[in-house]
Amino acid sequence: MFQPVNPKQNFPELEKQILGFWKENQTFQKSIDQRPVGSDYIFYDGPPFATGLPHYGHILAGTMKDVVPRYWTMKGKRVERRFGWDCHGLPVEYEVEKELGLSGRKDIVEKYGVNEFCEKCRSIVLRYTNEWESTVERMERWVDFKNDYKTMDPTFMESIWWVFGQLWDKGLIYEGHKSMHVCPRCVTPLSNFEVTLGYKEVSDLSVIWKFKVVGQENTYLLAWTTTPWSSVSTMGLSIGPEFDYVKVKVGDETIIFAKQRLEFILKGIEEYEIIEEFKGAKLVGTAYEHLVDFFNELPEVKENSKVYHVYAGDYVEVTEGTGIVTINGAYGDIDMQAAKKNGLPIVMDVDMDGHFNALAKTYQCLFVKEAESKLVEDLEKENKVWRKERYKHSYPHCWRCDSPLLSYATSSWFVKVEAIKDRMIANNNQIHWVPDHVGKGRFADWLNNARDWCISRNRFWGTPLPVWRSEDGEVLCV
Ligand SMILES: [Zn+2]
Repeated sequence: MFQPVNPKQNFPELEKQILGFWKENQTFQKSIDQRPVGSDYIFYDGPPFATGLPHYGHILAGTMKDVVPRYWTMKGKRVERRFGWDCHGLPVEYEVEKELGLSGRKDIVEKYGVNEFCEKCRSIVLRYTNEWESTVERMERWVDFKNDYKTMDPTFMESIWWVFGQLWDKGLIYEGHKSMHVCPRCVTPLSNFEVTLGYKEVSDLSVIWKFKVVGQENTYLLAWTTTPWSSVSTMGLSIGPEFDYVKVKVGDETIIFAKQRLEFILKGIEEYEIIEEFKGAKLVGTAYEHLVDFFNELPEVKENSKVYHVYAGDYVEVTEGTGIVTINGAYGDIDMQAAKKNGLPIVMDVDMDGHFNALAKTYQCLFVKEAESKLVEDLEKENKVWRKERYKHSYPHCWRCDSPLLSYATSSWFVKVEAIKDRMIANNNQIHWVPDHVGKGRFADWLNNARDWCISRNRFWGTPLPVWRSEDGEVLCV
């Protein structure tokens, strides 16, 4: 009844025979045609970029994407499987920039031209489709390459516009000024999801600044930062009102910080005297001198009596740093909220490409990370640095080009995910997850922490947002 099994079976050969049989008999097509229209099992596949070659990760996910549709085919469902190609976005732009020797947004606009750049992108997006086809076929996955779709097809973009329009009509789209992670090289904000892709352990320059208290001789508030460049535009300081703080005399200077940080601050110092102990609340309202005087003539600084004062912040911790933190509304989510709450201005002295602009005076045109050592050295000479040292921490990088990301206040378009979060969580509870713990664990956690989703990019090769704005500020979604 059975043919004898060859004990020296050559499995790759065997697989090729099976593939040949499927091809010859059009088995995949028949598996669709033989099942009635209307008994469909709908399968949505996330399309890959054809600017890169398939790798192990694609093969693993591709196998799962094959097993489930096959199962439903065997259960009698009609399962069409159109393959798609993701054509838009940063990966393509990045490839083209490399090829043309361009570096960032400015080069594209000024040297090469946006239209030419997009044409160049269009020309390379399908570079590796043949390699993809042969790999996907060889792994014996059933998909329809003949009726493939591309995300750059006008029909596909129209469907995105339709979705956008639906969200717009439901009031779920808004333009917001928020602190985002931006890539200074790609000059664009990234979504929260993209940010999570690029955390890396790095060693950065950390500094404990000395902010001189107004009206008290040789007395300084100590504040710690791991991004010294962002301190240039510090507009205020935050303390934790419930924590204990100390005034400590070291030599002829007096320093103020959280009591719990004594050991950290006084590392290597043997002679000191604690002259006062008090709750943080007592510091609220203290006026101090800023590290630089660059902004003193800016109207929003000059006319705002709230700048360069101490505020209470419920987010301040004493497990790290000094228990006193800088408020840089332009360069951090918490900072932006603190600045808004306390009526402090948000001064943008850095452009989105990560270079200081004219507001930063002597540091203009320097890339922030490269300016840091000069900045710290300059301020050391003015006795504004308590200590500097290398600090190892996990920091987000661009998943595409590996540049360190910057927290940056910028205007972007968002989907109000938080408004529909409860519904998503309720729906997730009804989904049959395999294995169970992914749905209840990782995916549920992700939904619980979902934030509004940044969908705009300050780039060129993508689906344009169907939003039009007239000169008098009227906004229309078409
Ligand atoms: Zn980048």
